[in-house]
Amino acid sequence: MDLWYAQNRAPEFKLKESKMILHPFTVKDYEGLTINPYQGCQHRCGYCYATYEWSPEFYDRIYAKSNSPQILENQLRSWKFKKQIHPVMISSATDAYQAAELKFELTRRCIEVLQKYNFPYYVFTKSTIIKRDLELHKRYKDNCIIVWSITTSDENIRRCIEPGTPPTSAMFEVISKFTDLGIRCCINVDPILPLITDSSDNIESIISSSRKANVKYISGAVLRLRRDIWERMKVILKLLDIKNGIKEYNRIFQFIEPIKAGRNIAASYSYTNMIFEKVRKSVLKNEMNFEFPRINGADKVDARNISNNNDQLTLVDYM
Ligand code: SF4
Repeated sequence: MDLWYAQNRAPEFKLKESKMILHPFTVKDYEGLTINPYQGCQHRCGYCYATYEWSPEFYDRIYAKSNSPQILENQLRSWKFKKQIHPVMISSATDAYQAAELKFELTRRCIEVLQKYNFPYYVFTKSTIIKRDLELHKRYKDNCIIVWSITTSDENIRRCIEPGTPPTSAMFEVISKFTDLGIRCCINVDPILPLITDSSDNIESIISSSRKANVKYISGAVLRLRRDIWERMKVILKLLDIKNGIKEYNRIFQFIEPIKAGRNIAASYSYTNMIFEKVRKSVLKNEMNFEFPRINGADKVDARNISNNNDQLTLVDYM
């Protein structure tokens, strides 16, 4: 198999135009909106869910959706007085603050549009490049949440499983700058990889660093396996020399090879429960909240009610 993480392979950047940028999605009973200003991601996480069907191009060719800010503005303008809205997730299938953002600034411009139309948003990232937009998020701090995906405090493991990301210590330095300014932050320990990042030491270390960075919320989830993800995970297990790795994954995820196309396999209930208990205990010990600052029952807003800043519903209202 092609080594998707080859460090010396710089991605190719391409421009493309999109017809729509703001998309509705539903996960279980949660409805939301998402924008993805880029297609592809140079962070090269081996466990990435956004690759869908295995495609080396996902990591190597980054498409910048060059008309994103204009399309977003058009959509929001027509959305505003007709429909209910949800906070916007930036992004669900790419990292909006990957290095391409330094060149194209599409994420920044999309956020400026969301702010102009008073739309609340979450940013999901594992990049330090977001610090460029510290002031932009600060001026909107009651209506945005930054969710930092952090999986490991071990540099050797990070280089193997997500080689395009910055060191975790550098991430926490940036996180502190955000919390210092009162910007609401959550650490999402996701995905937790069995036998690789599920040790008590690793989880304790991430949660303790989060507390030191003044983060109040922790969330997390165990890896889900899909055929292409499993192929990459097998390489990772081999590179990290995990003894009986394949056998143990078969046991934890209870599957027989080959995994059929389209299957999405969760870890066993007992394993998931054990991990969640471990995370929960560490979070409580550190006097933090073990929850994603997610939208609850009041997650829909009549857009007519947010036509100006005075009657704008904030993300804080959802929590
Ligand atoms: S940062 Fe997210 S989108 Fe990018 S490779 Fe990693 S998991 Fe996939």
